[in-house]
Amino acid sequence: MSIQITGIGVGQGVAVGPALRMPDPIGEPDDVQSQAEVSDEHGRVQEALAAVTAELIELGRRAGGDAEQILEAQSLMAQDPAVIDDIEQRIGDGKTAERAVFEAYEGYARVLEGLGENPAARGADVRDVARRVIARLRGVALPTVPHSDAPFVLVAHDLAPADTATLDLDKVLALVTRDGSSSSHTAILARNKNIVAVVGAAGSDAIVNGQTLVVDAAQGVVIADPEPAVVASAAERGGTVAAPRPLTPGALADGTPVPLLANVGSPEEAAAAVALGAEGVGLFRTEFLYLDARSAPPVELQRSRYRDLMAAFAGRKVVVRVLDAGADKQLAFLGHTHEENPALGRRGIRALREHEDVLRDQLTALAAAQEDTGADLWVMAPMIADVEETAYFIGLARSLRLRTVGITVEVPSAAVLADQVVPLCDFVSIGTNDLIQYTLAADRMLGSVAHYQDPWHPAVLRLVKLVGDAGRASNTPVGVCGEAASDPRMAVVLVGLGAADLSMSPGALADVRAMLSRVTLEQARELAARTLAQSSAADARAVVAGLLG
Ligand code: PEP
Ligand code: MG
Repeated sequence: MSIQITGIGVGQGVAVGPALRMPDPIGEPDDVQSQAEVSDEHGRVQEALAAVTAELIELGRRAGGDAEQILEAQSLMAQDPAVIDDIEQRIGDGKTAERAVFEAYEGYARVLEGLGENPAARGADVRDVARRVIARLRGVALPTVPHSDAPFVLVAHDLAPADTATLDLDKVLALVTRDGSSSSHTAILARNKNIVAVVGAAGSDAIVNGQTLVVDAAQGVVIADPEPAVVASAAERGGTVAAPRPLTPGALADGTPVPLLANVGSPEEAAAAVALGAEGVGLFRTEFLYLDARSAPPVELQRSRYRDLMAAFAGRKVVVRVLDAGADKQLAFLGHTHEENPALGRRGIRALREHEDVLRDQLTALAAAQEDTGADLWVMAPMIADVEETAYFIGLARSLRLRTVGITVEVPSAAVLADQVVPLCDFVSIGTNDLIQYTLAADRMLGSVAHYQDPWHPAVLRLVKLVGDAGRASNTPVGVCGEAASDPRMAVVLVGLGAADLSMSPGALADVRAMLSRVTLEQARELAARTLAQSSAADARAVVAGLLG
């Protein structure tokens, strides 16, 4: 009899194959009195930390893209002075090096989680660093992705970023993890690599090696021991998803253009986005320039990095978002200190406004890069809440000679006030990731409330409609740059609600392009109207699935 396990699907693909489980992670070291010399244990730990740091940097360099950033961030965790002090103190108190490393990193992971940081990502990443160091200290190999000559579905409690980044895509058909949410690092990297994945699948511990699995990311389910008919229909869908498709510009069946843009986090990701058919950049997150810096990067450095990005999209639209620090990206030079609920704290425009010099420098560098390249540069601010903040940002950006300026609509108040806010802008872009978390009061970093992160929720759709309507009334282009745009059916609904372009992880472009080409604008509007009439996300999803297949 087949068993169905639910989780959170990443992407739209489906895959069928035999399960292969990741070996259990390295165990917790025993808490026994150390017999070794304290100074020897310090030395061993220093060596192991240095080796793990180098290993993570090298893995990141080879992987590139988002993975490089995540692995570099992990390498910094292996050099964190506060954790190293903690380890040394514990060794001084008589712990073994292995136990001291375990306890210090476990403490660090819990502090992050307590702060509302992403337990499925940051906490998991910290624990992965600890496991790597402990494996070094023990002189044993870290459990790695199992080897198999035949393709398989990888099943794990969770995957470390290094495991996901280095997967052999010829062999791994899909990923199933027990932990993680749609914004965990496993999900982000799976999306980037276009791997079919279901994360947060709590029942997946029951899966055994060799069991046949259908991993259906579109439905967020894993079916173990499926009926032959289920395998056949999945194989059919898998065939079409895997087939190469032309990189034509995004358009509806009636020819209405819907430019399909890419979300990118560094200039280096631009080439891959172009290769996957991105028609421009709909969201360039600039945080990468600031995250490891002790002070804001100089204007000239920023200018050259923006130029690199714009060069890859010469003549095409590039939407850059100014620094969105705060929440999970705290920066000391913006005066960030402990906040009980950092996602509700001094984030985005709030932090920038208090440090207007940082914002002015960034806008100056962007304007200079715009002049250097002649790019079609659009610049927007994150976390804008109302008219006053909109007017502040638009006025400042225009005074610094930026031509096309707008805001991200991701705070519900901005959506509620769309009729006042949108006409002040040259464009707006709806950030559904944050719009959902704030509308549903569910921290997007918390695995325990991951199921609230649902763009199909009628409350979210109604807010999107307010923005779409305001865009149409004032002739202001409205785009969507949150992850919701990468769900093909949702993409149709967003267009029906008024989105003129969609921006997403480049790996999602092909599926969205194919789905949009099947519906006219009138049909998209009709579908959107029907979703708005539903009273739950499940009903809205079901209505659209019923009509679009
Ligand atoms: C969003 O909030 O939807 C968004 C695109 O921005 P980020 O995910 O960087 O907060
Ligand atoms: Mg956001």
